[in-house]
Amino acid sequence: MCSEILSYKDYNGSVNVTNTKITYPKYDFNMSNIFHKYVNIRLFPKNHCYWNQCTFCGINNKYLDYSATWNIEDAWCQISYLENKNINYFWSIDEAIPPSILYQLAQKMNNNNCNFIWHTRSRLDPEWINEDIIKELAISGLTQIRLGFESASIRILKLMNKHENVEEVMDNIEAILELFFKHQIRVHFPAIIGFPTETIYEREQTINYLKKLKKKYPLFSYNVNILELDISSRLYKNWDKYNITQINLPCPLNDFMGNIIRWYEPIVHSAIPNLEQARRDAMLSQYTWYPKNALTEPHIFYRLYESGRYMLYSTKIPDAAKVEYNYKNFIVKKFPDLVSWKTQLGNYITYNPRNHHFYECSESVYNLFNDENILIDDMSYFPLIKGLLQNKFIYICEGR
Ligand code: SF4
Repeated sequence: MCSEILSYKDYNGSVNVTNTKITYPKYDFNMSNIFHKYVNIRLFPKNHCYWNQCTFCGINNKYLDYSATWNIEDAWCQISYLENKNINYFWSIDEAIPPSILYQLAQKMNNNNCNFIWHTRSRLDPEWINEDIIKELAISGLTQIRLGFESASIRILKLMNKHENVEEVMDNIEAILELFFKHQIRVHFPAIIGFPTETIYEREQTINYLKKLKKKYPLFSYNVNILELDISSRLYKNWDKYNITQINLPCPLNDFMGNIIRWYEPIVHSAIPNLEQARRDAMLSQYTWYPKNALTEPHIFYRLYESGRYMLYSTKIPDAAKVEYNYKNFIVKKFPDLVSWKTQLGNYITYNPRNHHFYECSESVYNLFNDENILIDDMSYFPLIKGLLQNKFIYICEGR
């Protein structure tokens, strides 16, 4: 293991190294003309998150060629290219774009009478208390924005180094939300529980705060993650300063894939079963319709929902029983460089070395997706297929 990446030996004895250098194709048309015309796009391929200081976050270390300048002309070029191709939906996969840059981009789109529905990510930034910015974004077709919330505890937010002035941001959250909602832009907050030294009280504070916002604002949504220790994060580099008393090596294989490592911190880890339960309760409280005995945990459902980009098309989470499918039978192929193995529990994990996504499934689902040409004729697999397409596990060769 070196400072930023994990490596592991596979069954053939080859050493695989977690990829730190991501290259994106300029345009991703994988999904266009299939279910909906939309693309995932990095509007600013040379930029990572403009904050890049959260202690738990290692995502920005994946981008080695960082530029401090935001090239709006280049982003606009990409958008106008989409328009020429009649693609009106896009999902910007940039980590976090500053409000002022989004504003300039939206102005450009509006001056050119663009007709888009789109989604992006930014931060909870006091700069959002500016209705002009939000109005311009709404006119440009922004339908949802993701703003990293993480915790309602001031102490934990400070440990996370989430903001320059944590109190100021917390005081302004509802003002920011109300501006977005006034202009019909949905806001999604990802949250993290289980940060080192987080107490039960602080965790409940976070979850209760999210529930309160959800109750008050129909256009608000959230998801709850349990902290994973990314070895390219500052938290990992300084783990002893965060009351972490143990780092577990070697890691299970699927942890290598995510560049994460198991750890032990006495306050949080004495409460691990409670963390899982807390996440489940929080997610179920949002999905009141979700079957309580579903085999898929609600946070996994959320991930499928997100990777299928359903937010671009709906103003609320769809009722799964009412989803209508347009396609009957089609043939998909697996990408050739996937790696699969059987777990001790008999499930299968399939790992995509190009983007470090992996999915775990039962033997029957694994067998279904293990043929060379896979005929999909049972649309109950629809959410899974969309997730697999989105994460480049499979591609469609033929639709019938
Ligand atoms: S968690 Fe989000 S805001 Fe924080 S550094 Fe990472 S990408 Fe940036």
